[in-house]
Amino acid sequence: MRRIAHLDMDAFYASVEWLRYPQLKGLPMVIGGGRRRDDELIARLNIEQPEHVWTADDLALIPVDFFPRLKDYVGRGVITTATYPARQFGVGSAMGLMKAARLCPQAILLPVDFDEYRRYSRAFKDVIRDIAPVMEDRGVDEVYIDFTDVPGGEREGGRVLARLIQKSIFDATGLTCSIGVAPNKLLAKMASEFNKPNGISVVHEGDLQTLIWPLPCRKINGIGPKADARLQGYGIRFIGELAARERAWLAARFGKSYGAWLHDAAWGRDDRPVATESEPVSMSRETTFERDLHAVRDRAELSAIFTRLCQQVAADLRRKGYAGRTIGIKITYDNFAKVTRDRTIETHTADSVVIRRHAGQCLKRVDLTRAMRLLGVRVGKLIKTGAAVVVPPSDDLF
Ligand SMILES: [Mg+2]
Repeated sequence: MRRIAHLDMDAFYASVEWLRYPQLKGLPMVIGGGRRRDDELIARLNIEQPEHVWTADDLALIPVDFFPRLKDYVGRGVITTATYPARQFGVGSAMGLMKAARLCPQAILLPVDFDEYRRYSRAFKDVIRDIAPVMEDRGVDEVYIDFTDVPGGEREGGRVLARLIQKSIFDATGLTCSIGVAPNKLLAKMASEFNKPNGISVVHEGDLQTLIWPLPCRKINGIGPKADARLQGYGIRFIGELAARERAWLAARFGKSYGAWLHDAAWGRDDRPVATESEPVSMSRETTFERDLHAVRDRAELSAIFTRLCQQVAADLRRKGYAGRTIGIKITYDNFAKVTRDRTIETHTADSVVIRRHAGQCLKRVDLTRAMRLLGVRVGKLIKTGAAVVVPPSDDLF
């Protein structure tokens, strides 16, 4: 019997910011926009309050009034994350900062500091690996952990080990997390949401009917908004209702493999291993323009950027020793609507000219009458091509 944990850091970016600015806890706050310029606030304080010498050690003492507010923001940045008190005003991820400013002008605005978030990400993962070495990295703030072969990993269904990990992470970083422990990844992922923040949930096979079946289908990682809408069209809203359908009935309507997967998921079945070394699924490059660009009016500029993105993705692939077979584009229009297109080709490639040609074909399948604010190029269906090629990072312009 396996015991698998899913660990999710609580409000990760905001919590990392609160470590250095504890005075901002509980306030409406958004993180987004440009990169951090260090000590900007400290420099301003030294000018405006010269009676005290402010240093980088005084971050926790900066008066709340000194922090930039959303209402003063001018630019094209978008929100990366918003705290709960800000979300209550209708502000949320991916929203333009200037639009958000109209909804919640008083929110504190902090720039994104990925270096700092990555530093804490490494720190909490190091703590976990010291205790339970079979860990799958799922991004900056979440991991799966296999408890099965860890001494004591079975005690109280995994709760004892989860508590130890939670406490060790807090002692090392000051950050809290929520952990779900279950027979597999699918259930563990759902369980980690049961008791947020700073919670632990233990799910056993026998809990399927009481804990899992009453949940909406969307809670299953792998049922997106489209699949959910189709399920609802058949009157299937909850996981229990999904479980009640015949496997063949689902396969006939959702395709053989997705239909079978839906059935297994509803019955809490998932035998995916915890993969300690994750292979990339795709590689992509994208850029947000300084100003909106139009396919006709700004053709030359757009074309140059497009070519450069293709060259960068190709260089990434060769540097890491991959080639891909699905080539796609991503566009965000000036009204923030997003569109993606891709096509799958016969042979794997890491050639920028080939990527450019097929990405160009994808571009012909989207609306080019609207101005764009972001363009991205992506290569998926990757295979390892063997030894990584050393490519000088000279074309890393972004
Ligand atoms: Mg999280």
